[in-house]
Amino acid sequence: MSKVRVRVAPSPTGDPHVGTAYQALFNYVFARQHEGQFMLRIEDTDRARSTPQSEQAILSSLRWLGLQWDEGPDVGGPYGPYRQSERTPIYLEHARRLLEAGHAYRCFCTKERLERMRAENRDKKLFPGYDRHCRSISPDESARRAASGEPFVLRMKIPVSGECVMQDLLRGEIRKDWESIDDQILLKSDGFPTYHLANVVDDHLMEITHVIRGEEWISSLPKHLQLYEYFGWEPPVFCHLPLLRNNDPARSKLSKRKNPTSINYYRRAGFLPEALVNFLGLIGGSRAEGDEKFTLDELIRTFRLEDVSLGGPVFDLQKLRWLNGRYVRENYDTSRLRRALEEWALGPEMLERVIPLAQPRLETLSDWGYLTAFFFADAVPFDPAKLELKGKTREDLVTVLQLAVWRLEQAREFSAQGIENIFNDLARKFELKLRDMTRPFYIAITGSEASTPLFQSMAILGSDLVRMRLRRALEALGGISSKKLKEMEKLFESFYGPLA
Ligand code: GLU
Repeated sequence: MSKVRVRVAPSPTGDPHVGTAYQALFNYVFARQHEGQFMLRIEDTDRARSTPQSEQAILSSLRWLGLQWDEGPDVGGPYGPYRQSERTPIYLEHARRLLEAGHAYRCFCTKERLERMRAENRDKKLFPGYDRHCRSISPDESARRAASGEPFVLRMKIPVSGECVMQDLLRGEIRKDWESIDDQILLKSDGFPTYHLANVVDDHLMEITHVIRGEEWISSLPKHLQLYEYFGWEPPVFCHLPLLRNNDPARSKLSKRKNPTSINYYRRAGFLPEALVNFLGLIGGSRAEGDEKFTLDELIRTFRLEDVSLGGPVFDLQKLRWLNGRYVRENYDTSRLRRALEEWALGPEMLERVIPLAQPRLETLSDWGYLTAFFFADAVPFDPAKLELKGKTREDLVTVLQLAVWRLEQAREFSAQGIENIFNDLARKFELKLRDMTRPFYIAITGSEASTPLFQSMAILGSDLVRMRLRRALEALGGISSKKLKEMEKLFESFYGPLA
């Protein structure tokens, strides 16, 4: 077999997700086991949602976990560029080949037509996908319309009948009727490729031998296999890892409403990278026996990709805390722990940010302890009865808190000024005085009504800890029903546009 080459291919559209770390880990381990290469590719074809901040955060959090890649946008390598936005001409060239060979076609349908069609399909309970209206346009007419400037997308021709037979390393054979699969868009009207085209082209050109990724992509596999076939390429081995699950009775898909999903949260909340890696290997892995505590090297020695259990790995925070505690107690002597604490939050950099906020409020140096404790903590104790919004109901408060969580999550830079702008704007929208609005936030974030300045403190704490504390406050207020959440989403979108 050719040399093993694997990749993790995150989209830089938000916080660095623990699911990305879990996939990176298994790819990394698999590569090390086979003396192969582990590559990091940035899939930023969604130009509206991709940000350089998110890319940086992904790179730095994977590096923090010790999952160093051999090739990637920062370290380079022979198969670059490793950022999809820098590979557009490659995708266009491949799209052109598909069009010329008759495997893809231009679709000129307007948004209005597509909406009408979808509504009709819904009413008649027909296949919800595209009705292939433009598939029969002749190549000449298609070329003419494109030349005259009519906007179009490029769609791939999906077989209209028969079955797609797929192989997955963990599941064996999977079959799916072609009938249920849509003529996938490959190039958007802005000329950028969709994930499907870019992903397949890159996996081929980068000579990926094993695609180890999340199981949410199984439904896309028929399209991907068909693209390999159209290009005349040998597909890689596919292995779809089960998704991380919440530790709830329904074992729902890991979601940030129930669990923090950002690697940054775990870092800021004082988890050790080796404990988090161990935990991800443990819950997702295939080690039937032995101690639950193991190093990355031990995992590399014992792990077998084909034995990964399909039962969803449960992200049990209590277990992670327990494991982390074992590392702290068993692997660290005093001076190593001192260094770890410094690296976490007790280093000069953090102290020099907190000192200017604390100084005006210190009478003695020892006031420092209680005044700044909330900077060096994950959860802070607070009195839920104090969570109040002057002149408003509890429900109003819940709405304000939740909208703030969403708005803060969208903030690309978490600066004091940026946060202040967000709060000013929210206060205006809810017709509140800023001072009244911030009071419950003080309680939730600092644990007290009188503390260091809120926005600057929030900026130092960072987005992840702040949002987690606000979520804890929401829980202390009784949580939010799904119905209420939908209403809040509507309200948010009427203020700020799409939530995603
Ligand atoms: N960009 C996709 C993601 O964010 C990668 C999926 C794949 O590995 O093919 O999950």
